[in-house]
Amino acid sequence: MTLVQELRDLLGDERVLSDPLRTHVYGKDAGIRRGEVLAVVLPASTAEVVALVGIAARHGIPVVPRGAGTGLAGGTVPTSPSLVVSLTKMTHFDVDVESRSAWVEAGVLNLDLSEHAAGHGLHFAPDPSSQAACTIGGNVANNSGGPHCLAEGTTVNHVLAVEVVTARGEVVVLGGEAPDPIGLDLRGIVVGSEGTLGIVTRALVKLTPNPPAARTLLADFARVEDAAATVSGVIAGGIVPAALEMMDRLMTTAVERFVGAGFPTDAAAVLLAEVTGHPAAVEAEADLIRAVAESNGAGRVRVAADEGERALLWKGRKAAFGAVAQTAPDYYLHDAVVPRTRLVEVMAKVYEIADRFDLAMMNVFHAGDGNLHPLMAFDASQDGVMDRVQTAADELVEVCVAAGGALSGEHGIGLEKRDLMPLVFSQADLDAQARLAEAFDPDGLFNPEKVLPAGSRCFDLGRPVPAGTWI
Ligand SMILES: Cc1cc2nc3c(=O)[nH]c(=O)nc-3n(C[C@H](O)[C@H](O)[C@H](O)COP(=O)(O)OP(=O)(O)OC[C@H]3O[C@@H](n4cnc5c(N)ncnc54)[C@H](O)[C@@H]3O)c2cc1C
Repeated sequence: MTLVQELRDLLGDERVLSDPLRTHVYGKDAGIRRGEVLAVVLPASTAEVVALVGIAARHGIPVVPRGAGTGLAGGTVPTSPSLVVSLTKMTHFDVDVESRSAWVEAGVLNLDLSEHAAGHGLHFAPDPSSQAACTIGGNVANNSGGPHCLAEGTTVNHVLAVEVVTARGEVVVLGGEAPDPIGLDLRGIVVGSEGTLGIVTRALVKLTPNPPAARTLLADFARVEDAAATVSGVIAGGIVPAALEMMDRLMTTAVERFVGAGFPTDAAAVLLAEVTGHPAAVEAEADLIRAVAESNGAGRVRVAADEGERALLWKGRKAAFGAVAQTAPDYYLHDAVVPRTRLVEVMAKVYEIADRFDLAMMNVFHAGDGNLHPLMAFDASQDGVMDRVQTAADELVEVCVAAGGALSGEHGIGLEKRDLMPLVFSQADLDAQARLAEAFDPDGLFNPEKVLPAGSRCFDLGRPVPAGTWI
């Protein structure tokens, strides 16, 4: 029986897509690469995922897990004709108010969970700017962050357990409700594994109480360096705000055209800071942030007057990438991290690279944790532009790594940065990671050719490797 026929027998015609017109969109995520899809399946339960994995393994077809496809590193882009398993039909969740946690199926949208939990005074703390579209499965797989992860930490800090379907078709639950479980933290290994170790079907996530008070400040600066210095100054001053985001003029201009959030477009950069907690504490912290900003040359410092103004400022921040579409038809967004204390010098190099390659470089980023997102807006139909974009992107990564940074703050390595991994990991580090991946998935069934550089894993060698052999 053909692969597609077997899949149809299991799921019916509606939940198996094989017509290229319908599968085309699954060959891409929100990044710039495209791959080849053999078929797309839309399981509705863990049992169906188990059966699908069995069919794919029997046919020797790679399996690419997929959430909403908002990833920016090519993580869900197939590198060879593959079975794409889209989890978007698995949307059930149960909130346990007493334990402040929820068992959530992989296809639940991040914002749906927080909006539902709001009725109980709770929310899911990781809040990627894509939260209206991205799935909890994708958040877990990418260990996603968001503006409010500065004080609360990224997804890994909010996942107690994961249910995973392995390459052998077993269903395992890693982690659990109990704090500080003994043994190796396999839950922590699966979070951030980008679909290479198994398919996450459900997660037990922590829910965080909504803060009793919040103050949101917008400070503008005539020099980007002064905004960057304010970021270091705030943290050095002893405050870790709930969020501390920076946008430069090209970006605020695009956002204002798109949303009209009230960002000044005459400033070189703005900082959007938020402090949350007890009302008295937030007033004191907001005053301190204002003082640090002013001592670093801030022009205006405005505190959102009410919830409506606060929501509008965040709407503007979270719409930033969407706003770029009005500037140019294509964009390439980088995600790297530098130590906060090196922000000033690294930002200067980012703009120098933009000038040298004649690219519109727009910046919007989680400045508080040093997570840069230089975004190059361009028109891919122009001759030679892709070469300039790629070379500039590689230089950006090198600059960040040379400043003591990391390859990715939150978007993952995926396809896009796998060959840059040797910049930060030795061969011994990479071998250890390959062995770990092989322990979960010896035949490279799940999301092959992602994260680790070409040639890292046994199946990359293009020949069968006897069981138990390490490379
Ligand atoms: C406008 C915009 C704003 C963004 N803002 C942020 C931000 O602030 N912070 C941030 O961290 N990211 C951000 N992102 C990136 C992206 O939204 C996140 O990485 C998100 O978590 C991806 O979720 P997804 O459901 O779209 O996953 P996909 O893109 O479908 O997949 C991402 C990766 O996860 C794997 N995967 C997906 N589901 C599963 C599963 N159930 N089991 C195993 N593996 C799985 C895939 O194979 C792939 O490797 C943004 C993206 C866009 C387009």
